[in-house]
Amino acid sequence: MRAEARIDLNAVTKNIEHLKAINGVELLAVVKADAYGHGLVRTAQAALKGGATWLGVALLEEAMALRDAGISAPILAWLVQPGSDFQQAIEKDIDLAVSSMAALKEISELKKKARIHIEVDTGMGRGGFLDEWDQLLSADFSQVEVVGVFSHFARADEPGEQQNLTQLENFKKAVAELSAVGVNPPIKHLSNSAATIKDAASAFNMVRTGIAIYGLSPDFKTLGDSKSLGLKPAMQLRAALYLVKAVPAGSPIGYGASAVTKADTKLGVVAMGYADGIPRIAAGAGVFVGGKRAPIIGRVSMDQFVVDLGPDSKAKSGDWVVVFGDGGHGEYTADDWGSASQSICYEITTRIGPRVPRIYEPHVY
Ligand SMILES: *Cc1c(COP(=O)(O)O)cnc(C)c1O
Repeated sequence: MRAEARIDLNAVTKNIEHLKAINGVELLAVVKADAYGHGLVRTAQAALKGGATWLGVALLEEAMALRDAGISAPILAWLVQPGSDFQQAIEKDIDLAVSSMAALKEISELKKKARIHIEVDTGMGRGGFLDEWDQLLSADFSQVEVVGVFSHFARADEPGEQQNLTQLENFKKAVAELSAVGVNPPIKHLSNSAATIKDAASAFNMVRTGIAIYGLSPDFKTLGDSKSLGLKPAMQLRAALYLVKAVPAGSPIGYGASAVTKADTKLGVVAMGYADGIPRIAAGAGVFVGGKRAPIIGRVSMDQFVVDLGPDSKAKSGDWVVVFGDGGHGEYTADDWGSASQSICYEITTRIGPRVPRIYEPHVY
């Protein structure tokens, strides 16, 4: 093995305990995209242990995988278009988000009554009812059980933004209009991680929390980093040094010779590349080895990248390095990698590829 993602499930459990305490409402743990790269089933189990009472996923397949693993907690799947296998979904007791009249019609025709959550577009312009809202208000709901109504924030990571208030008001209005036609879903949910942390007014009776349960900040620039939010990053990414070698000043490194060594130094060749989710454009990140940071030099290749260890490094071929971790020892974080690749920590953890095994062990340095 040459690379691994070590997942501290205890951190997930602790993060959820912390996040639940903020608003004191039910918490739906968002475990889509293989639990943001942390491994779907094990992470979901840790989330439930921490007090999450619901699980949320994008795809029906993800919900099915949770049921196949024996998880019986309520599950909501929200990216389900008309033509999906709704029958199988309701046989497995999976709650379905509904965003269109076409989906509502199909779901209403099933033999068993489906549990649905009505999604409202309150201003994100993505999922949810908008142009068909009036049709929805006059729809026949007798063939479904309306369990929830929800919407999603576009800018909750910018707590002062007027759009957040507008979306909250639009949501309340939608809830009132549904109520006026006799539809009173018991569960109302609007908050993502950023709102879970910063916007108590939007908590209603459940929050849908994703990135923060993994110990990562929705936006470290506007909300503060993991540590300042009382969160512990669950994932540590490690890789082997395939090779360490000394090179003279002026050595061109990697494809396109985009970098040249400035002085005599030692290079470390890290056995991970863009096929494993290391962004090819990353610049300014690197690895942690021998108690210090060694920056990337040259372009990231498919299976490997090179770091500048410095002339005095004691690292040797076969040693392991930390690509990112919780930052507590001086190592790079998922936020650092996000910034280094003009992206965000979400994209860093979700794109770690299938060649990297997830192991459920404590972090090591
Ligand atoms: C992904 C997603 C979330 C979780 O967002 P975070 O920022 O990770 O907390 C919540 N709700 C919906 C509808 C989502 O798609």
